[in-house]
Amino acid sequence: MSFDLIVIGAGFAGLTTANRAAELGLKALVLEAGSEELYDCNSRFSTGSCHVAFRTPWTDPGELTNTIIDNVDGAARIDLAEAIGKNAARTIEWLKGQGAAFEDHPRRTDHMPMLSPLREMKAGLDWEGGGANALLQKLGDQLVKAGGEIRRGTRAMKLLRENDNISGVEIISEEKTQTINANAVVIADGGFQADSELVQQHIGCDISQLQRRNAGTGVGDGLKMATEIGAAAVGLDSFYGHVLSRDAMTNEKLWPYPQVDQICATSIVVDRDGQRFADEGLGGIYIANAIARLDDPLSATTIFDSCVWEAAKTTDNVPPNPSLPDAGGTVLEAASLGELANAAGVNPGGLSATIALYNEHAAFSADSPLTPGRTQTTYTAQPILDPPFYAIPLCAGITVTSGGLSVNGKGQVMNSNDRPISGLYAAGSTVGGLEGGPRAAYVGGLIKSFCIGHLAAETIAAESGSPASH
Ligand SMILES: Cc1cc2nc3c(=O)[nH]c(=O)nc-3n(C[C@H](O)[C@H](O)[C@H](O)COP(=O)(O)OP(=O)(O)OC[C@H]3O[C@@H](n4cnc5c(N)ncnc54)[C@H](O)[C@@H]3O)c2cc1C
Repeated sequence: MSFDLIVIGAGFAGLTTANRAAELGLKALVLEAGSEELYDCNSRFSTGSCHVAFRTPWTDPGELTNTIIDNVDGAARIDLAEAIGKNAARTIEWLKGQGAAFEDHPRRTDHMPMLSPLREMKAGLDWEGGGANALLQKLGDQLVKAGGEIRRGTRAMKLLRENDNISGVEIISEEKTQTINANAVVIADGGFQADSELVQQHIGCDISQLQRRNAGTGVGDGLKMATEIGAAAVGLDSFYGHVLSRDAMTNEKLWPYPQVDQICATSIVVDRDGQRFADEGLGGIYIANAIARLDDPLSATTIFDSCVWEAAKTTDNVPPNPSLPDAGGTVLEAASLGELANAAGVNPGGLSATIALYNEHAAFSADSPLTPGRTQTTYTAQPILDPPFYAIPLCAGITVTSGGLSVNGKGQVMNSNDRPISGLYAAGSTVGGLEGGPRAAYVGGLIKSFCIGHLAAETIAAESGSPASH
């Protein structure tokens, strides 16, 4: 059997690409390393919020593009940012045509689309009844009906080339190696967050000191096989993730939710010496990256007062008050800060000095002497004044890597001279150039998968001369 394209990975990026390609008259083979019918992948685990840098896809395209570009402080590929800005809403409409159901995000007032049925929003991993799982199954079924194929238990290992054009992939299935040919290959393997060597090499931290907040299936195969044939990679040094209770390392009920992001972002996070080490006001994704880079990533603790703990009844997708203690997570409480420091294993003198300075500069003027500084554009820093006082031992939860293959606005993988590698495409979390930068910016894993997958399929159809692409 011959195929027009081979897609590596059957998450949302892979299945969007394959379905759009089938709609445009092409025959797609999707290779999926997982062998179970409901194989694990980040798409299945996802909560389903389809935002673009936390804005709705219906935002003016120019504004969306500028938000992406501004957030990564110059590290974005402009053509790719523009492509997402222009095509995000069109892709969501196309998904609706594929049977995707959406509801408004329950915690927002701007009609942010979320895959329906909504996740229950409770502590722990909970995907079975959710919209993401339903849509994955729907896209898989539709692809097969349209003449495509999904081969589970099949891992792509190597890209094949002939005369500088992609000619297929080498795969391993049931311990046998085989080659499959096609003129177009789409890498949609979901990033490298689950590979300890790549995480150490690029992000600079020991994966065993982080909490896996992902399906464990993104092991960097796509990055490795594409860079092996000359693909360029960008922004590999950061990840999208959240701040979790340290108990998540041993208690399955504490990941992927509840997150402790907003407690941290409205109060302080300290190391064992009681010193702040990150601008907490930049939010949970940034703080998670900063924790991961500590010499001892399992030494971070957030300290806050009763006002912040009261506010935590309504913050984050799954409010940590009371879901975190209810699920077995440690929340230390004390009448004095000295007592709290001792209970949390934080140096009391260091903590006292840090809090005195922090409280003194609660208004945080631009010339505040706080080091690190404190951004207040999204979160208001709350002084630590009202007893009882609280501490939560933290860890960094890694969801998905932010950087990856350099891909242009058409979904084509670029080489080190910034020219497309003929026949090679990528979509989803394996793509770099949109996220990361000094503030660990996040565009959104779902929109990266849906939108770039959709565009890659259209490019492949146009390049192949498929009549349906005109
Ligand atoms: C708990 C959680 C909540 C999230 N919530 C949101 C949210 O609300 N909004 C949002 O925008 N994003 C969210 N995300 C992120 C989002 O889910 C991902 O970024 C996105 O789904 C990635 O899709 P993908 O297709 O690129 O990768 P994946 O869904 O991970 O799919 C990749 C597939 O490739 C397969 N694979 C890997 N290597 C190979 C190989 N060599 N050969 C064959 N197959 C291979 C894997 O087995 C996997 O099935 C969340 C993620 C998690 C974990």
